[in-house]
Amino acid sequence: MKYLGVIGDPDKKSLSPSFQQAALDHLRLDIVYEAWPTPPEGLELRVKGLRAPAVLGANVTIPHKVAILPMMDELDDLVRRVGAVNTVVNREGRLCAYNTDVAGFLRALREAGQFDPSGARAVVAGAGGAARAIVTALIQAGAARVIVINRTFSRATKLVEDMRPLAGPTDLRALPDAYISWVSAAVGADLLVNCTSIGSDSSAATKRDPEEVDSPVPADVIRSGVLVYDLIYRPAETPLMAAARQRGARVLGGLPMLIYQGAESFRLWTGREAPVEVMFEAARKALAAAEGGAA
Ligand code: NAP
Repeated sequence: MKYLGVIGDPDKKSLSPSFQQAALDHLRLDIVYEAWPTPPEGLELRVKGLRAPAVLGANVTIPHKVAILPMMDELDDLVRRVGAVNTVVNREGRLCAYNTDVAGFLRALREAGQFDPSGARAVVAGAGGAARAIVTALIQAGAARVIVINRTFSRATKLVEDMRPLAGPTDLRALPDAYISWVSAAVGADLLVNCTSIGSDSSAATKRDPEEVDSPVPADVIRSGVLVYDLIYRPAETPLMAAARQRGARVLGGLPMLIYQGAESFRLWTGREAPVEVMFEAARKALAAAEGGAA
């Protein structure tokens, strides 16, 4: 018997065990995928455990994606570019770090969103870990322009400065989170990606002021020709997606990216192609059960 797991916040329930285990069982692999809730002070010990011969590797999620980086033995190129790890492979006691969020985002964009990012003009809301992966992905895919808008402007400018040496012909810029920025960024944009946590169930639960906005983007700047891609998968339709739909825009939620990043991790651990339809079905079931209060 071999083991895999997801290293994450003890207070947050990850969907990965549900759909990864379904995929492993479907292919009759003798592997158990577990939830490994880990507080920050327990991360070092948890990483030590990953070197055991029975452990194939792990997924890494909020809040450990950056903190785990110096504990790795080998870093894939994309990990260096993004500055975050979401997958670890144990190769005979050596821990090799990967970032499959980049591939997961692009596959979801192309397959579920039917959108070709090459030459696209994109607006990215947010400048955290997810935004770094998405900006890297858009540069890699040959986007013509990427504008990053974030509440904390210094974080957006830092992201853009870090990524600019790798941006090639992509016109990469940061703008402060002000109405005028959204208006100017929306001109000619064909893709808008929400990489903030605004609109997620967890951000709604921690909202102190009921008047607080639940969408990162002013609705009136959304045009009908744009694809609005929200990385959030809980709820399945966020207030941003609902507003975009109302304005005639196409929308894409975060579930396909979650599945496709997991499929890429699965391939790294097992060497097998992941049965993505099985993963989608298991994830949808787990989400429905959680909504009904069963999980
Ligand atoms: P993170 O590093 O904590 O970044 C959070 C981002 O949200 C920051 O840009 C932050 O702005 C912004 N933000 C949070 N609350 C805000 C508020 N009240 N007003 C304005 N901005 C706010 O998190 P992350 O790892 O990037 O993840 C971001 C979201 O993407 C999460 O909802 C996560 O679940 C989702 N995600 C989905 C997938 C997937 O596979 N579908 C993968 C990765 C992430 P400041 O910089 O100003 O704090």
